[in-house]
This record gives sequence, C-alpha cells and structure tokens, in this order.
Amino acid sequence: MRIDLHCHSTASDGTDTPAELVRNASAAGLDVVALTDHDTTRGYAEAVAALPRGLTLVTGAELSCRIDGISMHMLAYLFDPEEPALLAERELVRDDRVPRARGMVARLNELGVPVTWEQVARIAGEGSVGRPHVATALVELGVVPTVSDAFTEDWLADGGRAWVAKHETDPFEAIRLVKGAGGVTVFAHPGARKRGRTVPESVIAELAAAGLDGIEVDHMDHDADTRARLRALAAELGLLVTGSSDYHGSRKTCALGEYTTDPEVYGEITRRATGAFPVPGTGGA
Ligand SMILES: [Zn+2]
Ligand SMILES: [Zn+2]
Repeated sequence: MRIDLHCHSTASDGTDTPAELVRNASAAGLDVVALTDHDTTRGYAEAVAALPRGLTLVTGAELSCRIDGISMHMLAYLFDPEEPALLAERELVRDDRVPRARGMVARLNELGVPVTWEQVARIAGEGSVGRPHVATALVELGVVPTVSDAFTEDWLADGGRAWVAKHETDPFEAIRLVKGAGGVTVFAHPGARKRGRTVPESVIAELAAAGLDGIEVDHMDHDADTRARLRALAAELGLLVTGSSDYHGSRKTCALGEYTTDPEVYGEITRRATGAFPVPGTGGA
C-alpha cells in the first residue's frame, strides 16, 4: 500500500487542480493520498467528485503556525471541516494572505523589482495566494532562476528583505482546535532549515505532551542526518512518523509518492480521527 499524506492543489499553491491531483495520484500508483492545502479545505468537493476507483482520499489541511517568532506548518487530518472554532481560525489566517502578498510586492518594489500585484494575482488564480506565487513572479521576471532561489534571505525567506509576517496560529492552539474538531496533527517538515529557523526539540517535546500525534520525517527538505535525528526523537516522544512528497505540481520538484508513510502509521491516524473518515474512490467524474 502506497500512502502520500501531504499534497497541495490549486486550492492553495499547487499547480494541479484537485481533480488533476487525484487522477495524477492514481496514475502514480498511490493507494491513499491526502489533500493538505494551506489553511483551506476548499478543494475537498472537487477531489471527492473526481476520485478514481482504487484511490482513497484523506481530507486535511496544512495550518500556518508560529511559535517564539519561528514559522512552522502543522498538518491536520480528518477533522470536521465545518467545526466552527477551527474554521474561524483558518479564515483568520487566510484573510491575512492577500494583504501579506501585497506587502511583499511593495517590499520588492522598494528593492527595485518591477513585480505587480496583478502579476501575482494572475499566478495565484483561484488559489489562496502565498509566497510561492510571489516567488514564481520573481522567476518570470528573471530575478531568480527557480522558485527555491527566491526562498533566501535576499528575497522571501523568513526574515528576508522582501518577507512580510502573517497571522499564524500558536501550534498549541492548533493542536487543541484540531483535536476539538476530531482531527489528528502531524508537525510538517520540522527539520527544514533552509526555510528559516526551526523549532527546537524541547518545544517538539512540549507539543507532544500537549497532544501532537506525529512528525513528518521523510521529506525532501530533510537530509539523512536530520531524518535519523527526527526518527530517534519521535521514538523517544512516542510520536508517529510520516513521510510525504509535499507535492505542489510543477511548482516544486518532488513527485507524488516520492516519499510515503508506513501503512501501520496510516492505520493509527485513521483510528485516532473522529471528525472525518477516509473517502474511497468510486470512479470519479
Ligand atoms: Zn509546509
Ligand atoms: Zn506543504
């Protein structure tokens, strides 16, 4: 059984529509795929409607969190998408995305980069606008060769020259809200140092004590040493270990199913969740 628990669609900053994503997941030989767009569940209905037979969809989201000035991402799975407290928090984060992206455009203009809001909005399309859309604009303008080259201190990395902070949820609050909505939490790419400062292990231990379910270990942003260290930490703290592609379509380089999650861990996630259940494909639209 091949299980990929972290994928983005055009509902946030991926380049596949939710329907394309599930078809591509099936074509890539996956049995289970999770839709985890940033701070939104908008893609669910389309993904469910298009779900090919033989593929199971895990509904989820990747929540933007911040602790002690460090940005972090919290994957949330199988929560009730209508639960009001978690829904309100997702909306609070999402409503801040447009002013934030406009702020980064303004910073870039001050740095002499002729990027416009219209360009960034065109790239984002229907998706909730985020840093990768601004980064794509920088590639279009020839300022940097690739999207990942825009995620540096010179440009859009946390604390970078054109970076603007956004509203982000306290991760302890995120764990509480997701649990309240019947979901399961997994700390996404906790050792991704090139994205900025990472959360210290002491805080991961506190998050585990507060009910965090797992950490994402096998991820393209983790080297072998980081994976070994995180696997040991998970064992020590009793956390589940996941692996995922963090697929963004053509915007990033990782292929669907390039990293996967152990079926036993997936089984445990589905056992812990009460807010929603995995959706088996019925053939799709
Ligand atoms: Zn992330
Ligand atoms: Zn992601």
